[in-house]
Amino acid sequence: MVLFNKKEDCCGCTACKNICPKSAIDMVPDEEGFLYPQINKDICIECGLCQKVCTFQNGYATPHNFEKPLVYAVRHKNENELLTSRSGAMFIAISDYILTHNGIIYGAGYSDHFRVVHKRATTKTERNEFKGSKYVQSDLNETFEQVKDDLQNKRMVLYSGTPCHTSGLCSYLLKNKIDTKNLYVCDIVCHGAPSPFIWRDYISYIEKKYKDDIIAVSFRDKQWGWEAHVESFILQRTNQKVMTKTYTDLFYQHIILRPSCSVCRYTNFRRPADITLADYWGWKKVSQEFNADNKGVSLVLVNTQKGRNVFENVKQYINYLESSADKCIQPNLQLPSKASSFRNLFWKDYIKHGFTYVGKKYGNLGWMERLKYIMLKMKSKIRGIVKG
Ligand SMILES: Cc1cc2nc3c(=O)[nH]c(=O)nc-3n(C[C@H](O)[C@H](O)[C@H](O)COP(=O)(O)OP(=O)(O)OC[C@H]3O[C@@H](n4cnc5c(N)ncnc54)[C@H](O)[C@@H]3O)c2cc1C
Repeated sequence: MVLFNKKEDCCGCTACKNICPKSAIDMVPDEEGFLYPQINKDICIECGLCQKVCTFQNGYATPHNFEKPLVYAVRHKNENELLTSRSGAMFIAISDYILTHNGIIYGAGYSDHFRVVHKRATTKTERNEFKGSKYVQSDLNETFEQVKDDLQNKRMVLYSGTPCHTSGLCSYLLKNKIDTKNLYVCDIVCHGAPSPFIWRDYISYIEKKYKDDIIAVSFRDKQWGWEAHVESFILQRTNQKVMTKTYTDLFYQHIILRPSCSVCRYTNFRRPADITLADYWGWKKVSQEFNADNKGVSLVLVNTQKGRNVFENVKQYINYLESSADKCIQPNLQLPSKASSFRNLFWKDYIKHGFTYVGKKYGNLGWMERLKYIMLKMKSKIRGIVKG
């Protein structure tokens, strides 16, 4: 059985691993830290289920979607929720609604020293770990299997993740003929999922530099306002907050994203989710005042009737304005993030020399190396122009 021919064809959603009737598939990290399915040929019975469940390669269905999503700009009324969430805290409003119905929330949290993993939460305290964007590809662990069990036990479930996660989950449940009437799915507009190894190495770089342990992280600290993109780390001994832009810088260069992100199937309005969440870039087209304090605003796309029911039920906890698709368009609702032309070189350097080297050469850790890289980029641009 061959699951993919090139890495771009696998988004790592785990649907194939979970559906395998013989448990013959393991998710194994490659040298960049991204998980890929590996088949144990001694156990595999060649049933082909793993190939059939793959929506990244076979396409995804959205039979319950409205022809056009309902579009809103949203801010939670509770200022604390707003300040501790990435955008306008719509995720908190939705997940609170599910929790009050004795439901279960799945989202991205942390395990062993800020490794990003998907988890199951049944209380607000557990759910609060999912708040805020973690710009790393999350390890989905056994969550698809757990969702299946929860739905079979007639529990209400909210699953939140990137669209490649939610699409994989829906396909897995459909193939298992699971009744999904109690399942609510929430995806995000996604710029791309960065490498877990780079995130791990950057944490250890900061700890070595400051000779201290990190006890809290924020991928995007709102201290500088919602629009800024600055990551922060709290150190244990000194309680100092370290603010940096190195990881952000690598993220936006599209040099550390998963290969499949460059051919993402979900950068459009046909969402594999009941509700889609994003930052509302361009919110001023709806109102000049709504986010004048720069504390954050969510873009919310309500894609299905189920999503609309939830939205109606959380209205009392949010301030919202109606909008439209043409007023909320942003790059990753149109096109995948194109991989950097230096991606291969970056990873060759990383594998040979390690993180500090690439952090200096491609990031902003060292000026000499960085200068050489900028010159290299300019040369390549000029060559491109000359070639026409
Ligand atoms: C990797 C990534 C790329 C993104 N790219 C864009 C973009 O291009 N444009 C845009 O407008 N918005 C993007 N977002 C979404 C945005 O940053 C907010 O997550 C979203 O607006 C929800 O904000 P909130 O205030 O409602 O809730 P928050 O509490 O801030 O949202 C948290 C939710 O996001 C989920 N989440 C957090 N990290 C991950 C992860 N690594 N993988 C899967 N799910 C995760 C949590 O499970 C939780 O449900 C991205 C988010 C991530 C994680």
